[in-house]
Amino acid sequence: MARYTESVCRLCRREGMKLYLKGDRCYTERCSVDRRPYAPGEHGQGRKKMSEYAVQLREKQKLRRIYGVLERQFERYFEMASRKRGVTGEALLQILESRLDNVVYRMGLATSRAEARQMVRHGHMAVNGDKVSIPSYLVQPGDVVSVREGSRELTRFKLAAEAAPGRSVPAWLSLNPDGMSATILGLPTREQIDVPVQEHMIVELYSR
Ligand code: SF4
Repeated sequence: MARYTESVCRLCRREGMKLYLKGDRCYTERCSVDRRPYAPGEHGQGRKKMSEYAVQLREKQKLRRIYGVLERQFERYFEMASRKRGVTGEALLQILESRLDNVVYRMGLATSRAEARQMVRHGHMAVNGDKVSIPSYLVQPGDVVSVREGSRELTRFKLAAEAAPGRSVPAWLSLNPDGMSATILGLPTREQIDVPVQEHMIVELYSR
């Protein structure tokens, strides 16, 4: 399976902002964006005026990197979003938010989407009681996402469950008191998705 292998901190530096790809480290002084706030590479510190196309491209790359999605899959999501009724940019974000790995991250079980992806791949998660080990699985309103019975004694999940009372989750999720399962109440609205992208630029990019 294809995956991105370069240092993820370079991706944040390329986008000029924290994308929070490394979990706890992102909140410490070891964050590379804080230490070296310029793009990586030989010309990273030079000032460049970006064309409209370049700005649109950067927005697309930023969104893709936040969710850890490769190019082909991102294009498929865009096609799905274009076929939906309503605003394409918002539909695109809703699809990305519906990914199982993102839901596990939003539930607070992982400190990054990459960690959540690993939890799913390792078979720790279930949807409506059935094991699902595909991070890109798209959940639907009404679905219940949970840690599987056999994984609940693992330290990482026990710690997450203990921290559940103080954990805040987005309003479109209802975290159950056990801290290890949540119900999808509905698709998130744009206001409920806290990603710093201008999605209309991505729509413009694909409309070229
Ligand atoms: Fe990005 Fe986190 Fe690395 Fe900082 S520590 S550069 S926010 S991935």
